[in-house]
Amino acid sequence: MTLTPVAAAPASTSSSESSAVLAHNYHPLPVTLVDGLGSWVTDVDGRRYLDLLSGYSALNFGHRHPALTAAAHAQIDRLTLTSRAFDHDLLVPFAEALAGLVGPLVAGPPMVLPMNTGAEAVETAIKAARKWGHEVKGVPDGQATIIVADGNFHGRTTTIVSFSTDPDARRGFGPYTPGFRIVPYGDALALASAIDETTVAVLIEPIQGEQGVVLPSESYLPAVRAACTAADVLLICDEIQSGLGRTGTTLASELWGVQPDLVTLGKALGGGVLPVSAVVGRSDVLGVLTAGTHGSTFGGNPLACAVGLAVVDLLSDGSLQASATALGAHWGARLDALVDEGLLASVRRAGLWAGLDVPRASSDPGSPTTARSTSGPVDGRDLCERLLALGVLAKDTHGSTIRLAPPLTITESDLDLATDRLEHALR
Ligand SMILES: *Cc1c(COP(=O)(O)O)cnc(C)c1O
Repeated sequence: MTLTPVAAAPASTSSSESSAVLAHNYHPLPVTLVDGLGSWVTDVDGRRYLDLLSGYSALNFGHRHPALTAAAHAQIDRLTLTSRAFDHDLLVPFAEALAGLVGPLVAGPPMVLPMNTGAEAVETAIKAARKWGHEVKGVPDGQATIIVADGNFHGRTTTIVSFSTDPDARRGFGPYTPGFRIVPYGDALALASAIDETTVAVLIEPIQGEQGVVLPSESYLPAVRAACTAADVLLICDEIQSGLGRTGTTLASELWGVQPDLVTLGKALGGGVLPVSAVVGRSDVLGVLTAGTHGSTFGGNPLACAVGLAVVDLLSDGSLQASATALGAHWGARLDALVDEGLLASVRRAGLWAGLDVPRASSDPGSPTTARSTSGPVDGRDLCERLLALGVLAKDTHGSTIRLAPPLTITESDLDLATDRLEHALR
């Protein structure tokens, strides 16, 4: 008798992209993971990899950090969801803890508004800014403008993609939400001159992560802050990827001594366990949102607050930020050496966050100006596939760039191992 297998093929042979039922909105690397601990993950075939993407910074504390899984396990056995129709015992403690961590870094007495995903935090900040602009600043309802930077990434909702400059993110999803003005990133003068009497806010990533860890000049963020203050315009820093230790500081905006009016947080706030986001900022701004004007069934739920509290606790003594700074400096020296050798075209880095550009392949193989070795990777995707084969997970962006964001908890020897493998992949 011949047995016809009815079960699905093992995961190792069925990538998500070959599934007929899973939507095709991602093009993942060919690996199927089954478990993870710290900086390491294991695939279905038992192969181990160093995770140098960390869920785009959602896994800043690594996989299954014991303090985070303990908090989640304990809370699952107590209370998981109330909705905001009723309070629960961790809601105010979470808000107060987060205000304690981030409040001193924003302009003015802080308030916290919990949501779930990053995009929801951005939407919340946009709504708060528009309502503040109307009610406090006196901009006629429906006329508020918000200034954003080109190359931005703030999420995937219809309003947010309305002001994206990435054709893939935007095309086909119209009609678009009006009220946004796009200026070149890094040009504070262009930004200042785009401000007029309808402008309620500037929404900006202090470091553009999705764009390839693009760092502005030293003077940029302070100049943006000054332009906002002068015109009574809110500075909203989207720190969903840059915040919570990634850059060696609690917020990236600290690197330039800038205090935003509102900050959006997400990703690492959920400790890699569940989606948790928040807007933290001036209470006179967030205070315009009153009962019934904004909300979320899951925002600030007990499980999210339990994990969020544990996340804040991990960042509260500053030691993870300090080690990200120290490890980052060590790592940066090694990455710079790869640039000096011509194996990389350029490196941009802040703390444990780096964007690496693969040298462009020359169209004329005989050209003496070819900088890269002929056996090097042809683009970011190729480099990520080579890294995968060597046991390192990373993700390409915009063709020739790869972005690395190792867990803040990575050991120096694991970071060196990953960098050895990177060097090997580049040769
Ligand atoms: C990831 C990200 C978002 C969106 O977060 P989601 O949780 O995916 O909705 C927004 N802004 C920045 C800077 C991000 O990196």
